[in-house]
Amino acid sequence: MDSRSHGITTIDTGYGDRPRFCAAYLVVQDGRAAFIDCGSNDSVPRMLAALEAQGLARDAVDWLILTHVHLDHAGGAGALMRELRNARLVVHPRGAPHMIDPSKLVAGATAVYGEAAFARHYGTLLPVPSERVVEATDGHVVKLAERPLLCVDTPGHARHHIAVWDAASRGWFSGDIFGLSYREFDTAQGAFIVPTTSPVQFDPGEMRASLRRMLAAEPAAVYLTHYGRVDEVQRLGADLLEQVDAMVALARECDADPARHARLVAALTALYVERARRHGVAGAQVRVPQLLAMDIDLNAQGLEVWLDHAKR
Ligand SMILES: [Zn+2]
Repeated sequence: MDSRSHGITTIDTGYGDRPRFCAAYLVVQDGRAAFIDCGSNDSVPRMLAALEAQGLARDAVDWLILTHVHLDHAGGAGALMRELRNARLVVHPRGAPHMIDPSKLVAGATAVYGEAAFARHYGTLLPVPSERVVEATDGHVVKLAERPLLCVDTPGHARHHIAVWDAASRGWFSGDIFGLSYREFDTAQGAFIVPTTSPVQFDPGEMRASLRRMLAAEPAAVYLTHYGRVDEVQRLGADLLEQVDAMVALARECDADPARHARLVAALTALYVERARRHGVAGAQVRVPQLLAMDIDLNAQGLEVWLDHAKR
């Protein structure tokens, strides 16, 4: 294994049938293994194949750590746990009940996607027995062999979100709190990054605070779910903070418009196109709306839910 990898393997979960869209991670220390996030049910064979590629048995997995319980991260947890008889599931206390009884997650996601699309994307969510679930409150340390993995409460994208600090790599496993950075947008200037404010728990104040807390650790790298490892963390963090402010300002501007959603989608698209163009992304005008279409729609929805909530 490459010594610079710190025993960390990026697994393409294949979620959404789109390559380099949704990552999970395998961390190996002294023959013991932890997965961080796991994609959906369809990702389980890829997770097991990654383990096998490292020459490890399924019994070597001690932990499945979920950054949060959105289904592109956690949908396959129940199915994967059935294959890993020694593993325990580590999850935010607000996420734990939904892993033990997924019925509310299913209802919530069905309301967003519709029944047919839900079945196609996620199949049947399997419950995780409660005795195998460990609730990770802020500061909880998972020991992988003797390697500490520190769980930090990081709301802003979701209230059931943790980020995992790995001192060995000086890296954060960030789930969705440290934004989205698709490798298709890499240029000579490095990675291009965008916040994810998807519904229904986006909160800009909490997102800023979580980002600042992560940056204060002076990380060497962040391991994103969407997608992969990024360096230059301070620059990317500043990019995210700037965009959270810009997105909130756009949301407020569009709020009174009867066609609020469409107008906000257009405004966010223009923001990201302009930033991508300045970043040197070729064909930004076409490729940003193309590759970020779903993210922009979700970001607009999440900003709108936040606007409406703030009015109550
Ligand atoms: Zn998420």
